[in-house]
Amino acid sequence: MVSTLRPGDTIGILGGGQLGRMIAQAASRMGLKCHIYCPDENSPAFEVSAEKTIASYEDEQALKTFAQSVSVVTYEFENVPGETARILEELVPVRPGPRALKVSQDRLDEKIFLSEQAATTVAPFAKVDTQQELEAALLEFGGQGVLKTRRFGYDGKGQIMIRAIEDAEGAMEKLGNQPAILEGIIPFEKEISIIVARGLDGTVKCYDPADNYHKNHILKTSNVPAEIPADTAQQAIDMATRIAVALDYIGVMGVELFVVKNGQRTELIVNEIAPRVHNSGHWTEDACPVSQFEQHVRAISGWSLGSPTRGYNVIMENLIGDDVNTWESTLLEPNARLTLYGKGETREGRKMGHVNRLSPRS
Ligand code: AMP
Repeated sequence: MVSTLRPGDTIGILGGGQLGRMIAQAASRMGLKCHIYCPDENSPAFEVSAEKTIASYEDEQALKTFAQSVSVVTYEFENVPGETARILEELVPVRPGPRALKVSQDRLDEKIFLSEQAATTVAPFAKVDTQQELEAALLEFGGQGVLKTRRFGYDGKGQIMIRAIEDAEGAMEKLGNQPAILEGIIPFEKEISIIVARGLDGTVKCYDPADNYHKNHILKTSNVPAEIPADTAQQAIDMATRIAVALDYIGVMGVELFVVKNGQRTELIVNEIAPRVHNSGHWTEDACPVSQFEQHVRAISGWSLGSPTRGYNVIMENLIGDDVNTWESTLLEPNARLTLYGKGETREGRKMGHVNRLSPRS
């Protein structure tokens, strides 16, 4: 298997959403081609890619044909089935590798990895498989906690905030009696994230941390620079670096953190990791010499990483659902850069595009 790509080679991407689309656009700029594999025939990434396969992630024959047509496979979502990754890995390098997928797909594995192998701080947690175990864990956690399914949770789905023992009634049933974890409630001041990249040669580069604000559990804005003390920003960089190194990671990863005030001290707690380019890193497209998308392409291609230095202050705003109707007025703003994902149908909660509003760097 070839481990380093040349211009003209093809990157395979599992998933055809906006993240796949923006990876493909960055790859195209570097003279690389992309082949998108996605079951959805209306995938926004198809229209900017040289090749596409519309097939299910369980279709072994389609996966093999796909693997043989590309030099490396990457993905734009973390819930790639384990068996899909295994079939591909036999034929072509898959980057980031299987360890990153395994750890990020299961909140229990993720917490254990983050605390034991990456030496980062996480919320107190307990494995919970039954209502009885939930009630026992709640007693240990002072009657409160966030109950989360171990798998397939995102944007606040698959989780229940429990503020008092009474709220726990029927909670496991509400989550479909799936294996879960209970996390202690973190009284965070705010949420930040950091985008880290690690190359094939082990080089690590981090972008500046961003302050993240959510609306209806969906990221609404990311602001850079995050308003945090300089030593806290450095702590975020150190944590993200330790995570990438401990996973022997190749590619770009998003690390979401809670900022907690502890007397005079500001501390960071890792909430979760995403083994892919990340929504809170979209600001890098217009504010850095090398965006998170190009950085990911460089890393998985075995190329040198580029500069993540930030040239501007940025407020990145997600255009969710009808927000996209503002596109025309956004064009009139002198310092706004609009990106639309080319999705046909506007639906409530659907990410349709984003705007980066730039101002001089502080
Ligand atoms: P998640 O799906 O784990 O990213 O959680 C979605 C959101 O729920 C986070 O962005 C937080 O706002 C909130 N949340 C998750 N876990 C906790 C926790 N342990 N304590 C307090 N808030 C949390």
